[in-house]
Amino acid sequence: NSTIGILGGGQLGRMLAVAASRLGLHVHVFDPAPDGPAAEVAREATCAPWEDEAALEAFARAVDVVTYEFENIPAEALEVIARHAPIRPNRRALSVSQDRLTEKQFLTELGLKVAPYAPVEDAESLASALEEIGAPAILKTRRLGYDGKGQARISGPEDIEAALEAIGHAPAILEGLVEFEREVSVIGARGTSGPVACFDPGENRHEGGILRRTTVPAAISEGQAADAVLIAGRILSALDYVGVLGVELFVTPEGLLVNEIAPRVHNSGHWTQNGCTIDQFEQHIRAVAGWPLGDGTRHSDVVMENLIGDDVAELEGIAASGAALHLYGKAEARPGRKMGHVNRVTGPA
Ligand code: ATP
Ligand code: MG
Ligand code: MG
Repeated sequence: NSTIGILGGGQLGRMLAVAASRLGLHVHVFDPAPDGPAAEVAREATCAPWEDEAALEAFARAVDVVTYEFENIPAEALEVIARHAPIRPNRRALSVSQDRLTEKQFLTELGLKVAPYAPVEDAESLASALEEIGAPAILKTRRLGYDGKGQARISGPEDIEAALEAIGHAPAILEGLVEFEREVSVIGARGTSGPVACFDPGENRHEGGILRRTTVPAAISEGQAADAVLIAGRILSALDYVGVLGVELFVTPEGLLVNEIAPRVHNSGHWTQNGCTIDQFEQHIRAVAGWPLGDGTRHSDVVMENLIGDDVAELEGIAASGAALHLYGKAEARPGRKMGHVNRVTGPA
């Protein structure tokens, strides 16, 4: 049996491991944090820091292919792994999306539209970026941000100091605030020999920077849905990508803008578990294992709702509500922590 190595042991790794196991594959998780959601469903788990080259090498030698469930893996760790096992998606996909500046440049060079942006190093460059882009704007750290962390809104020059303070003076970009009509995302997949399959666009609602709900179908026109899927296909091909990719988009009167890409399975694709015969997790495992992609046609309308922090306190009511329940096995329900999600099938597609 082939063994899939997964870097990162959170809930995405857990759901990938479940999918791999359902396909008769073995899973070996590598995660610096002990007792993560993925380790307990994997056949093997290594808990070691990213700097532990011996552990990385042993892990890479023990698996047939390495994939990952989050994008902030240090380049040095990947270099060690790459000597012993193929990494899918490839390292370029990861490095492009690890840094919001290189990500924006890559998307722009592909001819895709993004929010107006400028790099920021310090108060001086922020002042000139703000002059160029105008307020309101959002300052975002180039690296390591997720769930809206590492971001600060700016209404005018008076906010400059506080915003830099809020993001810890890290290298950043300033983005113009887009007045979008709605937010959608496309989960796309590309196989080893180049075929592309995209799931239907979902419509996303964020609260406090965290994804709250995804609804399919999105309330967009057929033309907009086709545009969204084509954008995902362009990105997949340009990166010579293998695996599943999430593309977050803003729908505006001027067309679609790409907000960001994630080189992995994506929270806004969880609806596929109960809306499609082949979900994003199986699709990703098929792709990285070099298998044919599955048919991701949507058979049902679905609303995916994240269970965040204390949401799980009402588990009994949720469990009785008829929705499909997906829990990550996390012991402690901290505020803002994703504990699980539910998929409510709302009708046939
Ligand atoms: P994720 O958890 O999706 O990785 P993140 O921390 O990388 O989130 P973004 O996706 O950049 O953050 O931003 C989070 C949300 O904030 C977006 O989904 C959108 O609702 C809002 N947002 C971000 N950038 C902009 C923008 N330029 N204009 C308007 N809204 C924005
Ligand atoms: Mg992000
Ligand atoms: Mg995002």
